[in-house]
Amino acid sequence: MGIELTSIGSSSSGNSYIIRGGETVVILDVGLSGKKIKAGLAELELRTCDVDAILVTHEHVDHIKSIRMMARECRQARIITSEGTYNACDSMKDIDGGRLTFVSGGESLTVGELGIRTFKLSHDAAEPVGFALEYEDDRLVVVTDTGIVTEEIRKEIMRANKIVFESNYEENLLLMGPYPYNVKRRILGDFGHLSNEIAGNMLSEMVQRQKEEAELLKAPRIMLAHISTTNNTAGQARYTVESIMKKHGHNSGADYDMIIAAKEGITRL
Ligand SMILES: [Zn+2]
Ligand SMILES: [Zn+2]
Repeated sequence: MGIELTSIGSSSSGNSYIIRGGETVVILDVGLSGKKIKAGLAELELRTCDVDAILVTHEHVDHIKSIRMMARECRQARIITSEGTYNACDSMKDIDGGRLTFVSGGESLTVGELGIRTFKLSHDAAEPVGFALEYEDDRLVVVTDTGIVTEEIRKEIMRANKIVFESNYEENLLLMGPYPYNVKRRILGDFGHLSNEIAGNMLSEMVQRQKEEAELLKAPRIMLAHISTTNNTAGQARYTVESIMKKHGHNSGADYDMIIAAKEGITRL
């Protein structure tokens, strides 16, 4: 079975993923209502008491909306985040200290059967961290909410065979769109978000590398996520990324499989 990731919903207004390897279950970010996250667990025939850890990337509300409720209800779960995120997030303050594990970029830890590595994200939050997870032969990495792909992030991408990657905006739609100039600058900047074009180029490099090494028997599986509701559409993200892939000689369905995380509801990687 390998590692399974299910998006319960992903967009600039709310993100949460359930990740499962063997008997171990973790939730990565809780930026949706507790009701929606619990409904997502129920669809996978899981209960809150099955959750071994909640991983929190950063304190923006689209990632921590229901942390208070989910931490309370997932009684067995460790809460894994950076100290900076914890300090910046008031709704984490009533979590029992014994359940907290602080990580910074470049650390390794295990939760049940899952191996987890962390990396720094380049984003306008206190201390944002990303997560790469391993189980059996599967290597999954989740990269959203970063303005640039650092060398550290790139390394994680190159070794992954399953990836959730941010495809936040189409540059033209953002530039022509309704956001004020300073917000546009923020999104485009080094501490903002990644565009469809950046996603296409980075993912092409990943597919290329894996073709050359032929290390993986199966084509990589890609989920485009954190799609802006104002500056992007699922169709546009797919079109831009697939076009860039094609330009580099990579074909969807043969060299890689790609799905788009639904804004609301379940999408399985
Ligand atoms: Zn953010
Ligand atoms: Zn976000």
